[in-house]
Amino acid sequence: MTNPFDLSGRIAVVTGANTGLGQGIALALAQAGAAIVAVGRSAMDETRAGVEAAGGRFHEIRADLSTTEPLQAIVDDTVAHFGALDILVNNAGIIRRADAVDFTEADWDAVIDTNLKSAFFLSQAAGRHMLERGRGKIVNIASLLSFQGGIRIPSYTASKSGLAGLTKLLACEWAGRGVNVNAIAPGYFVTNNTQALREDPERSSAILARIPAGRWGEPSDIGGAAVFLASAAADYVHGTVIAVDGGWLAR
Ligand code: NAD
Repeated sequence: MTNPFDLSGRIAVVTGANTGLGQGIALALAQAGAAIVAVGRSAMDETRAGVEAAGGRFHEIRADLSTTEPLQAIVDDTVAHFGALDILVNNAGIIRRADAVDFTEADWDAVIDTNLKSAFFLSQAAGRHMLERGRGKIVNIASLLSFQGGIRIPSYTASKSGLAGLTKLLACEWAGRGVNVNAIAPGYFVTNNTQALREDPERSSAILARIPAGRWGEPSDIGGAAVFLASAAADYVHGTVIAVDGGWLAR
């Protein structure tokens, strides 16, 4: 019997794959058999080493996703290098923290441009290629802030709530054409994104006390959901946001 989670021969683009959750996802996809195209601003040597150790093929594309300028080239480069693009994981993201009354337009635009605008237009560029082939998987990295308000992160909450909405819209348009669009909502994970929270003893212990699993997530906790959504096992899964949050939203 074939393994429905097997990604052998699949080509996966993962944005922001040099560190944190993107790196965890790239490694998990490679372990499932996919070739990895890692997109990011800086060197991705650690991710390359992990992917190659898992027996995966690896290609690196340097790109700044704060603008839409490099997006079509990412798809073109991937197709030129590996012959196709089967899986896109929109993972790259930033966060800016300030009280809503003080929040600047610059912090609003920076977060929305990277987390939402580039994720949409990269999905569009990849989606055109996938729709032409009649198959593809897009996985957006959303957040608990796709469901909740949070505090001191207005543009982040807007971007991640928007990304959950876009996930559903794209699923509605593309589900009947062989392309699955879904999202993962990570809970609280130990990465650069949450460094400020973890360094604040009060916030850090309040967060930990509310996580039913009793611990923060590690990047290795996220990959299984990405493999599932990228695989044939999820062929009939469209427009959903899977929480990988240690039970946070169940509370
Ligand atoms: P991280 O800061 O370690 O990783 C963010 C990645 O995005 C990095 O690789 C970074 O280089 C890349 N990136 C940011 N801006 C970019 C740009 N302009 N161009 C190219 N790449 C850019 O943090 P992380 O936690 O691994 O974040 C990954 C994703 O997970 C983000 O979308 C984040 O919002 C989301 N997320 C994280 C948590 C968490 O608890 N850590 C929770 C929910 C959602």
